[in-house]
Amino acid sequence: MDVVVVGAGPGGIACAISAAEGGARVLLLDKAGDIGGALPYSGGHLSAGGFSAQRAAGIIDDVEAHWADVRRISRGAGREDLTLLSLREQPAVLEWLLAAGFEIDPATPRIVHGHEQYRIPRTVHAGQTPGGPAVLAVLRRLLEPQVAGGAVTVECGVRLLFTGEAVTGVEDTTGRRWHAPAVVLATGGFGYDPELFAELEGAPLTTSAAPTSTGDGLRMGLAAGAGLQGLGKYIPTFGGLPPEGDDLRVDWSHRPQLVAPERPPWEIYVDRSGARWVAEDEPSIDRKERALTGIDRMTFWMVFDARGARESQPMVHGWSPEDLDAACGKRRGVHRAASLRELASVAGIDPAGLPASVARYNDFVARGVDSDFGRAHLPAPVARAPYYAIENHPVTLITFTGLDVDTALRVRRRDGTVIEGLYAVGEVIGAAAVNGNAFCSGMCLTPALAFGRILGRALSD
Ligand SMILES: Cc1cc2nc3c(=O)[nH]c(=O)nc-3n(C[C@H](O)[C@H](O)[C@H](O)COP(=O)(O)OP(=O)(O)OC[C@H]3O[C@@H](n4cnc5c(N)ncnc54)[C@H](O)[C@@H]3O)c2cc1C
Repeated sequence: MDVVVVGAGPGGIACAISAAEGGARVLLLDKAGDIGGALPYSGGHLSAGGFSAQRAAGIIDDVEAHWADVRRISRGAGREDLTLLSLREQPAVLEWLLAAGFEIDPATPRIVHGHEQYRIPRTVHAGQTPGGPAVLAVLRRLLEPQVAGGAVTVECGVRLLFTGEAVTGVEDTTGRRWHAPAVVLATGGFGYDPELFAELEGAPLTTSAAPTSTGDGLRMGLAAGAGLQGLGKYIPTFGGLPPEGDDLRVDWSHRPQLVAPERPPWEIYVDRSGARWVAEDEPSIDRKERALTGIDRMTFWMVFDARGARESQPMVHGWSPEDLDAACGKRRGVHRAASLRELASVAGIDPAGLPASVARYNDFVARGVDSDFGRAHLPAPVARAPYYAIENHPVTLITFTGLDVDTALRVRRRDGTVIEGLYAVGEVIGAAAVNGNAFCSGMCLTPALAFGRILGRALSD
């Protein structure tokens, strides 16, 4: 075996295909029953600067412009060397998928508002939601001939094997061993592991990460002496319903619609004390995410009235006003009451604070000026019973801390030296490597694919 790839998500699959195309014999391992990693859950948004679908739509773009946008959004807090390495490969990633039959939504390339906006439309995704399964379908198609031809073997579960300090292979849970000059960790993040999350990201965890995101590769790398990058760069995705029952995961497809350019708000946001804390119509989701980190337990409530419930676009993705009414008092975190005081007490908000904030907001609506936060969209007072509150928690889709790698994607120790034989691609190197402490559209999946391809090529040279 020439290359062992641990983890068959987008990073691992891309690496396996590229290495096999270069003539390497590859073992692709995954602990789950199927390949794909986070793709079945993922939005499947991909981005690149300067590819054929942009040119066909008359969009002028290039890697430099993409880099300028990523640098602006991430405030330069990512790794310049790794970000550029990925961005330069990303147009080729898109061409590769398109040539293999990846069908993009005709409304894309577009600017996505769910993350801080790029200045140029360069995000593409499939027509269906979520779009990750369509990316996986294309990757399966690309992987199949390599498996059929015997270049890639897909197996399950593993630990690393060493000779001295060098990584020289892997062993699966049944004791089978494979030796190879290169072992690639592509096991994804750790957003589904509360213990590791508490230790490394140190924030409240409400997760919509894939259940396979348990940090195995990170633990394997740490046990081999790897250093970490991205510590302290955690930022939450802005708002999601609390989990129900014993579930660790919340259903991301039914998340509150909190992106102001897509749904101008009829509600106010209040913290536990009942106080407003941001302009709800703030167009920059990045500014909202940063403001969220400053409030108690990063938890807030959308508060609105009967008119808002009827006249706004749906408050929660996929919920009609009737669905909302049906969820009140049944779905955890969704409440309705005849008065604001009663609403506050069932929802867990301060019963004196909430009516005072609503009265102050209603006064701003009457005057047409929000002198606290400068909100401009003031469609109606929150004044018509019944009143509603939807509880929102910070949501984790991806994790920011990961294994430190050099630009050859070799895992490095804390002292910067390389662990011979050990490589890493994808979310296991931490999303901060190319996003800093922000979210740049398409900049998890596309870099996972890009790094996978770059490493696969290098390992089969
Ligand atoms: C709801 C949601 C929406 C998202 N939307 C987007 C988006 O639109 N655009 C974007 O860019 N990013 C998005 N992301 C992030 C993106 O999906 C991930 O960052 C990306 O899938 C990471 O790829 P990966 O190959 O590194 O890891 P993963 O996709 O997590 O795959 C890792 C694989 O490793 C396997 N594995 C783990 N441990 C072991 C072990 N011990 N042995 C063997 N195998 C193991 C797992 O089973 C899994 O198959 C989203 C994430 C979520 C959760």
